[in-house]
Amino acid sequence: MRVLVVEDEQRLAETLKWGLEADGYTVDLACDGRTGLELAQMNAYQVIVLDVMLPGLSGYWVCSTLRERGVTTPILMLTAKNGEYDEVDALDTGADDFLRKPFSYVVLTARLRALARRGPTGAPAVLMFGDLVLDPARRTCRRADQSITLTTKEFAVLECLLRREGQVVRKLEILEQAWDMAYQGDQNIVEVYVSALRRKVDAPFGRRTIETVRGIGYRLVVDA
Ligand code: CA
Repeated sequence: MRVLVVEDEQRLAETLKWGLEADGYTVDLACDGRTGLELAQMNAYQVIVLDVMLPGLSGYWVCSTLRERGVTTPILMLTAKNGEYDEVDALDTGADDFLRKPFSYVVLTARLRALARRGPTGAPAVLMFGDLVLDPARRTCRRADQSITLTTKEFAVLECLLRREGQVVRKLEILEQAWDMAYQGDQNIVEVYVSALRRKVDAPFGRRTIETVRGIGYRLVVDA
């Protein structure tokens, strides 16, 4: 799951990034409103964490602008205790939820999971393709009622393919979803993870679900 954190307090931002990455999220950081606004429109995030008090553009402004521009990504707004604004404003500008500072990390991640489950447009919480079932909130993968253990990156790559069921997904798109912006390496890293996925979700079941579209990327196909 790819998350954008827009927060100008550097220590808090880095702590959040570190913690969320340890939990298997892919995290991009923006330390001001303008960068946050740009990144939120440029990349597909499952959830955005948006601080209200930011240098430049405020979190409220960023949130309402994103909604005006048709970005439907769930937004969790961070509001300051005794701040000048209140939570009603956060919801009025189009945020889906808010959390008052200081907050507990456990509560934050629970809220993020809930928002991701809800999805941008009431998207299904559990992703299914035939008998392959992926639950992003619980981070579980099953096929034919057998549990499959995936690494964080394998999970992210498969989630990306399942969300685009039936369509060809370019390697670069998979990279953008499953790796953060700091990754500067070869796109072919995706091949390594697709091979690993095939060994886990296809081969043991005698299936070929992940099709290579030469020179472009991958597509899920029904092979039954
Ligand atoms: Ca702030």
